[in-house]
Amino acid sequence: MKFDTVITGGGLAGLIAGISLQKEGRSTAIVSSGQNALHFFSGTFESMNEAPARLLEIFSEAGIRVHYADGVRLMPMGTFKESALSLEDISLFEKPAFAKKALIVNFMGYHDFFSSFIADGLKKQGIEARIRLLRLPEMEHLRQSPSEMRSVQIARTMDRIWEKVVQEIRLLLKDDDAVILPQVFGLQDISVPGRIREALPAKVVFTGTLPPSVPGLRTQMQLRRRYETLGGTFLMGDEVKSAHLHEGVVHSLVTQNLGSHYLEADNFILASGSFFSKGLISTPDSVFEPIIGLDVKSSEDRNSWYDPDFSADQPYMDFGLVTDGELHPFKDGEALKNMYAIGSVLGNTRPELGTGAGAAIRSAFKAVDSILSKA
Ligand SMILES: Cc1cc2nc3c(=O)[nH]c(=O)nc-3n(C[C@H](O)[C@H](O)[C@H](O)COP(=O)(O)OP(=O)(O)OC[C@H]3O[C@@H](n4cnc5c(N)ncnc54)[C@H](O)[C@@H]3O)c2cc1C
Repeated sequence: MKFDTVITGGGLAGLIAGISLQKEGRSTAIVSSGQNALHFFSGTFESMNEAPARLLEIFSEAGIRVHYADGVRLMPMGTFKESALSLEDISLFEKPAFAKKALIVNFMGYHDFFSSFIADGLKKQGIEARIRLLRLPEMEHLRQSPSEMRSVQIARTMDRIWEKVVQEIRLLLKDDDAVILPQVFGLQDISVPGRIREALPAKVVFTGTLPPSVPGLRTQMQLRRRYETLGGTFLMGDEVKSAHLHEGVVHSLVTQNLGSHYLEADNFILASGSFFSKGLISTPDSVFEPIIGLDVKSSEDRNSWYDPDFSADQPYMDFGLVTDGELHPFKDGEALKNMYAIGSVLGNTRPELGTGAGAAIRSAFKAVDSILSKA
């Protein structure tokens, strides 16, 4: 099978690259073995404020709605973090004291939403907060088994019964000027969070839950659908095992499912993620890239990998592939001329690209521009 570009990894970086190339008429395939960071996504694109026009175009064509305002957002543990470009579901406030009285609503039996922490966090900002639990007959079948009481299962029900939830919340509301709800709305029907906001006479704030992230899963589905609509080939559940290369040029990839039917291309993008997605692997004494054995920037002293302060930025997050200015990764000191490394497989080796989702997007565009600029 021959393509213009084959992309390893169908997370945010791989999908943005794939969509951008398909839009320019290039034939691409994405091979993606499993879960990606979007399944854990907070809904906020770190290190991005105003999005570049090309990103807004991709999001708009995929049906993804984003916004930005200077200020802060409420985190799942009741703390506040600086604003960044966010999905429309995420409320951004000028300042942490965004209300006087807040009603926090959770669902009976749902333990993946930290209402008490949120209440404590709000109280620290001088916001009076009270918690109420809704018991809905439509969720009784989920409550039978605690393993079913998870964000995605609840979200499937909520898309159907959100109007009833609004009615129940109206009965609970007193003089509260904010309602805090778990992010379990709008998995299939993107309009639901906005309609809930319109239907309630108070500021509605959707706040993160334990994974999987409902807005993240929806974003992943929207991007993948857009990619496939543009004619991209998405090989879900397959895994790139190795590559054929010769004199600094990659010729083809070997995947688990396709066996001897190699994936050939003029260009290759590696968007295989960090440790979490197995784009990088760590053993007791080394950090390596598992497909090709690309050169990795890390530290030999294992004691320096971690900061004992759990909440500190961990040094291992800096580890990533060694690349040149065009994002070509190196193998044994030699740059691979037709391969590009993008997204979190870079770690924080390219601080000029930002961090988190911002870095994933910027690096994807950089690789795409380089590929398109070739004759
Ligand atoms: C748990 C978690 C939560 C995060 N939340 C946020 C957030 O809320 N906001 C933010 O800005 N940033 C967040 N980040 C940072 C995150 O790294 C970026 O936001 C970005 O989504 C990373 O995208 P990526 O495409 O580079 O990698 P990933 O999303 O990790 O995707 C890599 C993909 O490659 C696949 N893959 C790996 N190896 C192979 C192989 N051999 N063959 C085929 N496929 C392969 C993996 O299965 C995976 O699907 C989070 C990171 C983590 C780990």
